[in-house]
Amino acid sequence: MFEYRHSVSLESDKCKGCTNCLKRCPTEAIRIRFGHAVIKSERCIDCGECIRVCPYHAKKALYDRFESLNEYKYKIALPAPALYGQFDNLDDLDYVLTGLLDCGFDSVFEVARAAEIISEYTRRYIREGNVKKPIISSACPAVVRLISARFPSLCEHVLPMLPPVELAARMAKREAMQEHPELDEHDIGVFFISPCPAKVSYVRNPIGVSETAIDGVLSMSDTYFKLVSAMNKIKTPQSLSKTGIIGISWAGTGGEAAALFNDKYLAADGIENVIKVLDEMENDQISGIEFIELNACNGGCVGGALTVENPYIAKARLQNLRRYLPVSQNYITNAVNISDHSKVPADVMWDKELEYSPVFQLSKNAGEAIRKMSEIQKIYPKFPHLDCGSCGAPSCRALAEDIVNKEAEESDCIINMRDELKKYYKMFDTSRDKTGTDENNSENK
Ligand code: SF4
Ligand code: SF4
Repeated sequence: MFEYRHSVSLESDKCKGCTNCLKRCPTEAIRIRFGHAVIKSERCIDCGECIRVCPYHAKKALYDRFESLNEYKYKIALPAPALYGQFDNLDDLDYVLTGLLDCGFDSVFEVARAAEIISEYTRRYIREGNVKKPIISSACPAVVRLISARFPSLCEHVLPMLPPVELAARMAKREAMQEHPELDEHDIGVFFISPCPAKVSYVRNPIGVSETAIDGVLSMSDTYFKLVSAMNKIKTPQSLSKTGIIGISWAGTGGEAAALFNDKYLAADGIENVIKVLDEMENDQISGIEFIELNACNGGCVGGALTVENPYIAKARLQNLRRYLPVSQNYITNAVNISDHSKVPADVMWDKELEYSPVFQLSKNAGEAIRKMSEIQKIYPKFPHLDCGSCGAPSCRALAEDIVNKEAEESDCIINMRDELKKYYKMFDTSRDKTGTDENNSENK
């Protein structure tokens, strides 16, 4: 049976049960049980929001360590475009790329390069007449997982095309095999330098593809600290960068959409805004739009939980870097062999459909689901509707659902319990006055 492997996890001993993460989780995946947070695995989309808000650093992302590079003879780094925004006063991308070689990689392949190619294919895809519009970008895995779990009617709007990182990994491997025919495919390790846990999860549980060409994922923050000392030693960087403005702009909100040269787009960032847009789309309240770019993190990938810099500063730095770059350095004919230049080749499209995963359903059985719903409707009005989180559920509605699913009890509501106790004490006081049994108290007076 397929087991989903998450990147986001909890260090229980550090958790104080403060409810910060409980209140911010966009999929209501967190509960507090016996004073500690618990993640409902099936609901988690690895957005990283709980990592950002935990004041005790009890939530963390799992990813590969630099030591995993030693498992391969030939190591390729795939830096995400957001990496360039982490460095102050950077005016030449080659410093970063040469620094990566000095950190132990044999070659580098910029994800921004593949992003420029995906931008061109997306332009072509939009022009194809038979696609469901508006098309929703599939580049942010947290958003795609959210759609597959919560918005079944929107699954067919998701762009069924490889994300840039997957195309980059495939192209990087292909190039390495051509340049080093002595290598076996298994000798080559492709490592993505990721800004967020959602992309770590993508590699562990690929979306839309049966198999990923990425062999490992390193965190951008770990890599950053290694890179800073390596870059300080570089006198003359090697000429390595093959990307332009379009590629690096994918790191921030609106970059992917702007590269389509089509004004009919909408770009939103931050998981709460993403949910609002998806809700409106589900309710047919969005019109005149052909493409929707959604990023779970504030500011786009520059706001990922594994970055080191403030997303808005990183975005401003990328804006500055654009002055030194051409618009694009990647033209489709260099990427893959295709005969018809107006079409999108099959090998950049998904080989698996996006499926609805009904993790929010009360039951797979319709009758059982209706029964549970009517029970929830009976229980829910009993609660104070404060959504305070003190019961360990993110809202009174979620507590009612947990009770119906036999994961909680009505007595978990602290507000109701307090009112019950008050009533009890009042009754106790009244009966005490009537019987006059509080002799000690009378004496004290
Ligand atoms: S934010 Fe969540 S994980 Fe962190 S201490 Fe509070 S309850 Fe625990
Ligand atoms: S990673 Fe996101 S979805 Fe998963 S538990 Fe944390 S906040 Fe919720």
